[in-house]
Amino acid sequence: MPYEGEFAGYRSLRRIAETERVQQLLRRARVFQTASSVTLAKPSIPPPPPQSLPEFTVAIDGSYAEVDVKNGYPGAKVGYCTVASVLLNLKEVDRLDEQRPIDPVEFRRTEEAATVDAALPGSNVVTRDHKSARDSFREAVFDVLHDVIVDEEDRSPLLETYEALLALKPQNRPQVCPYDHEGCSHHFNVQPGVTSCDCELRRPIYSTDALRIHERFLDIGTNGEAFGLVMQLWERILLIHLLRCFERRGWLDKVGKLAFFLDGPLAVFGPPAWLSAAINTELKRLNTQVRQKTGNDLVILGVEKTGNFVTHFEEIDRTETGEAYFPSGTYMLLTDRYIKERVIFSDSTKRYGEDTYFGRKFFYKTKSGARIVASIPFLTEDQDNITSDNVSLYPQFGTACALLDKLVTSRYPNALSPLVSAHAQAAIPLHLGAKVLQQLARALMRQR
Ligand SMILES: [Zn+2]
Repeated sequence: MPYEGEFAGYRSLRRIAETERVQQLLRRARVFQTASSVTLAKPSIPPPPPQSLPEFTVAIDGSYAEVDVKNGYPGAKVGYCTVASVLLNLKEVDRLDEQRPIDPVEFRRTEEAATVDAALPGSNVVTRDHKSARDSFREAVFDVLHDVIVDEEDRSPLLETYEALLALKPQNRPQVCPYDHEGCSHHFNVQPGVTSCDCELRRPIYSTDALRIHERFLDIGTNGEAFGLVMQLWERILLIHLLRCFERRGWLDKVGKLAFFLDGPLAVFGPPAWLSAAINTELKRLNTQVRQKTGNDLVILGVEKTGNFVTHFEEIDRTETGEAYFPSGTYMLLTDRYIKERVIFSDSTKRYGEDTYFGRKFFYKTKSGARIVASIPFLTEDQDNITSDNVSLYPQFGTACALLDKLVTSRYPNALSPLVSAHAQAAIPLHLGAKVLQQLARALMRQR
């Protein structure tokens, strides 16, 4: 028998949904009315790509797993995070598509193309002279960024890119010391590198403490959220890092040959959300140079596999007669009004995703019929707006849709990683620490 207040395990979820308490709550909750004068989804045909498609894509895709470990303490866990990046030769994709069905063995091979991988302390794993698992985790997050070298010839670590973004963080909201759980109440702006708190304990402060991921770290229990935040961070830092490497090498004039695909929306969620504005600023800075050199914008796409927007797109893409509402090869650019009325209810005047997104969402039904929820970045001040659905603000929008047509098969709807893996023979895993930039250079410099 359950204790008082304990959840009655024998009661099925369906029966809970039918209880009077749940029904009472629902009677007070807002219900979406299809008949009212809401904004309706409006599929349109995307403009053609302004020039020939990029020859290569770089796809960045992370994952994590939390595993139980034995160290003599109960419930000890370790998070294993990986971020894979893969260079895909689109010409090769065309050639292979004519010849063969997808080879599942090759599929697995790229799945293993991890380029950043690290084991992070979870609950009850305390390293070295740390006093808690949380502090061990904080140090590990710093160490990974500090140690990961993307290319053996350009020895700048990912930390350098992170700290360049940290320099863009507003200084008007000092954060609480990460040792607040030990009674320190100091507030400060986190500095680059390793510094220390000026309380008498003089404990180390890492530049990555500004991410405040440790605030979501649990000393007891599972840490899926914290590990997920680390993975999200690495994926986004790696994208900016690659672009900054190109800048250092003077390659931005060739970057039009590359398209970047990121797993998930172009956003940063949770305590590190401030990074989103910093990434936004940095992308605009880089894109100004790219426009000067190439006359066009960077091509960057985020692709979401799950979530409310994916569900919503599925729901609206069905007419009452059971036919698809979105014809193949049509898109819809989501506006603030549409999102607040139809997807995430809100009365707020604050723009949807203002603090978290560095891009905006669109739906695209590929020519093969797959439904894709993607986002494109804000690369200029004009583009940084989600009130208008005027797609001409985004000169690479047509390119984005054409790339999705090329890369997404209806067999794996909404997917980014299979999109890459399915074409494994055309894919070159970019092993960080090897000559990544040389591989990219070969791709970028190749003469037509
Ligand atoms: Zn302190």
